Amino acid sequence: MKICKKCKQIKPLDDFVKNKSSVDGKHYYCYKCNRLIFKQKYKAHPRRIKDTSNLLNLTESDKAYMAGYFDGEGCIVIAEEKDKNGGIISYRLQLNVGSRDVTSIKWIHEKFGGRIHKNKIKGKDHYMFYWVANSLEGGEILSSFEKYLKLKKERAGYVKEFLSLGRGYHVEKKKIKIIISNLNRRKT
Ligand SMILES: [Zn+2]
Repeated sequence: MKICKKCKQIKPLDDFVKNKSSVDGKHYYCYKCNRLIFKQKYKAHPRRIKDTSNLLNLTESDKAYMAGYFDGEGCIVIAEEKDKNGGIISYRLQLNVGSRDVTSIKWIHEKFGGRIHKNKIKGKDHYMFYWVANSLEGGEILSSFEKYLKLKKERAGYVKEFLSLGRGYHVEKKKIKIIISNLNRRKT
């Protein structure tokens, strides 16, 4: 028997989620609570699970336009995500495009997915708009228009290499460091 940290009920071990790294091989929460937590998380961040089927509807001219735009205004970043103690827990790919013109940013969002946010420009009355796509979604979006890139073609290649390393980021740290330094070397 074990007490669930969430609902505080004492339940048989079979009612707990498996967790290899804990002493008793079980998670803090019972199945019921765990499912609830997952549902709440999903509700709060519904875009976490991405559907990229919209990319299939893109025309060649959509892709070419996006590539041209991204060559000029786009940015590819692989960011380190750290835990509370400053240890690196994972690496995350991010594509972003910034513009003062919301129309083009909206167009990218509509056609390619990702999300939009805006920042007020300091001391000014207008906003800077950003289109952002992360991780696997970002990788899929990038490969949809990659063939039309001119300036950022090489950088897109580094992204492919990064994504091919899979989820075992901690194992591949050295390789990732090289990829990041390659990405940072040329500020195109
Ligand atoms: Zn519970």
